[in-house]
Amino acid sequence: MAVEQLDSSIKNSKNILLVSHINPDGDTLGSMCGMYSLIKDNYKKICDMVAVSKIPEVYKFLPNIDNVKNIGEMDLSREYDLVINLDVAAIDRCADAQILFDKAKCSVNIDHHETNNNYGKINIVEPFASATGEVLFRLCLDLKWKVSLDSAICLYSAIVTDTGCFKFSNTTPRTMEYSGKLLAYGIDPSDIYKKCYESSSKDMVLFQSYCINKAKFLNNDKIAYTIVYKRDLEKFNCNGEDFTDGLTEKLRAIVSTQIAFVVKELHSGSSKVSMRSKSIDIAQICAALGGGGHKFAAGALIKANPEKAVKMILNEIENRKLC
Ligand code: AMP
Ligand code: MN
Ligand code: MN
Repeated sequence: MAVEQLDSSIKNSKNILLVSHINPDGDTLGSMCGMYSLIKDNYKKICDMVAVSKIPEVYKFLPNIDNVKNIGEMDLSREYDLVINLDVAAIDRCADAQILFDKAKCSVNIDHHETNNNYGKINIVEPFASATGEVLFRLCLDLKWKVSLDSAICLYSAIVTDTGCFKFSNTTPRTMEYSGKLLAYGIDPSDIYKKCYESSSKDMVLFQSYCINKAKFLNNDKIAYTIVYKRDLEKFNCNGEDFTDGLTEKLRAIVSTQIAFVVKELHSGSSKVSMRSKSIDIAQICAALGGGGHKFAAGALIKANPEKAVKMILNEIENRKLC
């Protein structure tokens, strides 16, 4: 039903905007650029695309990423016929683009987060999908969309990054089936792997080693966390969001770790939490702190300094007797 509504709303719209989430990752950017190609190829329409924060360098290889505008360049008074959010778990995760989403004649929410509350006029939310890229490929099959190599690269990259190269528990038979079908369009999987995972800067690797080196371990090492201060980022010449990408996973990789988290000090005096677990449901912890996400990968923005944020997180874990 929602799929047919999406099809007719694309057909009926003259101007369309695609939106990605704050601190963009491979899934939101791959899905946005993938949707751009899919709409261009199947409806002969050119969409606008917007990022609400800096695009990490590693994702600059995605086809059409150069057409993405920063929210600062957008006219926020514009009324689009159609705005499509991709991988945006909650409406506040697209920052000022929410103004454009709310104003649009039609709004679509395409996502895969369990905590998504169906905030769009049309909602295509599949919590069992590994990535929003996987939801988009389902749309390609349902609506018999033509899939170009550009679209395939984008959707495959979205799935690869959200499944940690098919390692995470969100990887299902359908994930593999769709990825196999995407490969058949001529993608080079090794090239995408290198672009997503073997393209870190030297500064980033040295900075992350420093953060791991000063990590704290609690409850017989079941909890592992580290704090990232603004001053440390400056010391290591790291600015921008992506320098902490993959850091939480590195703490989770320790055999004893059950819950890992990274608390990052933000300019506003708030803290950004990135949390991972092996088998404990941490989406509930992050939801209680005002955020959300998936069972084993979630996050939150806490209006407190890092030390206070750590205390709040540890309290939530303790109160629930999670480990
Ligand atoms: P991250 O640790 O930033 O990679 O986020 C892990 C997962 O949690 C991703 O799927 C995010 O979409 C989700 N997430 C992170 N921060 C928030 C937030 N403030 N609100 C809702 N979901 C979040
Ligand atoms: Mn995402
Ligand atoms: Mn995602």
